Amino acid sequence: MSASNQTSIKLVLLGEAAVGKSSLVLRFVSNDFQENKEPTIGAAFLTQKCTVNDRTIKFEIWDTAGQERFANLAHLYYRNAQAALVVYDVTKPASFIKARHWMKELKEQSTKNITIALIGNKYDLIMDETSGEEIDGARKVSIEEGKQLADEEGAVFFETSAKTSYNVNEVFMNIAETILEKM
Ligand code: GDP
Repeated sequence: MSASNQTSIKLVLLGEAAVGKSSLVLRFVSNDFQENKEPTIGAAFLTQKCTVNDRTIKFEIWDTAGQERFANLAHLYYRNAQAALVVYDVTKPASFIKARHWMKELKEQSTKNITIALIGNKYDLIMDETSGEEIDGARKVSIEEGKQLADEEGAVFFETSAKTSYNVNEVFMNIAETILEKM
């Protein structure tokens, strides 16, 4: 396959510590999950290729650490990014507030046509596997709140589980398709 048939997408992950950013990347890149992941220090860089509409897409993924002491470095990573995943934990309202801040900051500081996905992760924690229904009271951020925030910022919205793989590939495929459409 010729190099001209390959598109590179620089993608950055943003969000509070422990919402599952590294786990989403690990699931996408290695189809793996670790119950007690060591936290990312600073930032990690990984690549993953996939095929979308007969084109090879090479994701160049920057996984930033969620710790506050690194937050002021985040702009170095999203400055030239074509895509951003803003991640929160559906069981942690504080992480959603943080996601709102990141969405606002991206809008103000990133390149104008950045493609953003808002991700409510850890969906498995609110689902009862046997009944297939949500566990009463487990969800702390509603789907409507997520959708509304995404709409306000022109982002797409997904709920995911890095643990079960739910919607993880879909997020990356959606980003790739959106960027190819913009080209
Ligand atoms: P990060 O700091 O945002 O990169 O978060 P990590 O990927 O390090 O994950 C923090 C913790 O949450 C780890 O113990 C993970 O195993 C766990 N975790 C991540 N994603 C999920 C998920 O979708 N479901 C569940 N139940 N746990 C998850």
